[in-house]
Amino acid sequence: MATMAKKEPTVNRRGLMLVVSSPSGAGKTSLSRALVAQENTTKHARIVFSISATTRKKRGQEKDGVDYHFLTQEQFDSLCRQKKFLEHALVFGHHYGTPREPVMQALTAEQDVLFDIDWQGAQQLRTLTHDVVSIFILPPSLSELRRRLSTRQTDTPQQMNRRLQQAEDDIQQWHNYDYVLINQDFDTTVRHMRTILHSERLKRHRQTHLQDTIAHLLAASQDS
Ligand code: 5GP
Repeated sequence: MATMAKKEPTVNRRGLMLVVSSPSGAGKTSLSRALVAQENTTKHARIVFSISATTRKKRGQEKDGVDYHFLTQEQFDSLCRQKKFLEHALVFGHHYGTPREPVMQALTAEQDVLFDIDWQGAQQLRTLTHDVVSIFILPPSLSELRRRLSTRQTDTPQQMNRRLQQAEDDIQQWHNYDYVLINQDFDTTVRHMRTILHSERLKRHRQTHLQDTIAHLLAASQDS
């Protein structure tokens, strides 16, 4: 038996970047919220939202700093010039961007970060790092998408038609994503998203202290 006290292996890992995109109305925001709520059952949040900045106006019950950071065009442009965004894009005539700092802090703290962003943002994140996991959510049909969009109280008929037209273009992006889910049933889709998250967390390269663990295992086997 070796007498030297051995260090217990740590099971730290690197946080992952989970991007969820969909055409407008396919349900990604509600799905993402449900995923985060179900995952963070303990005090420590293992997965956090990236709160985007936008120049669009606040809608309904939205809160500044919770749903978005609502900025003026000047504020947005200034942050852009200072390279404070990880990615940014023009969507439906408004600017949206992902603030860099909170994401970096969360990843360093071994938290996963969920990005509810469009395909342009997803594309930009992929060019920054190979460690992006992306999910594309599809509606079961265009008629269902129309039905879901029409139940939103916040859009005018013109905005709704614009969203539908844009949705058809957005759907063409499906092949750029790691996973594609058809949101036929809400609970099933959330379950599938959680399955993806859990599997991706277990990927070898995300278990950053695996080498220590293996060394510990092998050292223990030499002792026995
Ligand atoms: P909404 O204004 O309806 O909340 O969002 C409109 C679209 O902008 C959605 O597809 C949403 O995912 C996308 N979006 C929200 N935040 C960002 C962001 O920071 N970057 C990018 N590229 N898209 C975003």
